[in-house]
Amino acid sequence: MEYKTITSSAKKHIALVAHDNMKADLVVWCKKYVDKLTNHALFATGTTGSLLKNETGLNITALISGPLGGDQQIGALITEQKVDMMVFFWDPLEAQPHDPDVKALLRLAAVWNIPVACNQASADFLITSSLFDQSYEKSVPDYDKYIAQRT
Ligand code: PGA
Repeated sequence: MEYKTITSSAKKHIALVAHDNMKADLVVWCKKYVDKLTNHALFATGTTGSLLKNETGLNITALISGPLGGDQQIGALITEQKVDMMVFFWDPLEAQPHDPDVKALLRLAAVWNIPVACNQASADFLITSSLFDQSYEKSVPDYDKYIAQRT
């Protein structure tokens, strides 16, 4: 695979997702960092997004609920390079009906070099990084070269 460098702006596009048993943790985390998060563009799966909007007042674009396709919508945004970071509190102790979608979302985040936090501690580290509020250069798959080589 050939890679290219892209630059994300200081204003980040952040995807927020939490499985049901983890939603309370994500509410606590978002409340803790509401002043930082308010400066960025926020996306979430349906139920997570509604809950976070109600509990924090943050402006969040809510997609479809995860089990109904919301994880795949976020995955699609990642492939379009419309997500810069993901906070995904997935449940390590309970299987989900949409486990294949969860795996697909995590895979796409790895493919497209997206920083992912899976719990409060990793999310703390990401949001307090000096890189969080800056533009950032990163390497992503070069699709134009990929398709040129295959056609
Ligand atoms: P939800 O989806 O925010 O609609 O609950 C999250 C998920 O399970 O992926």
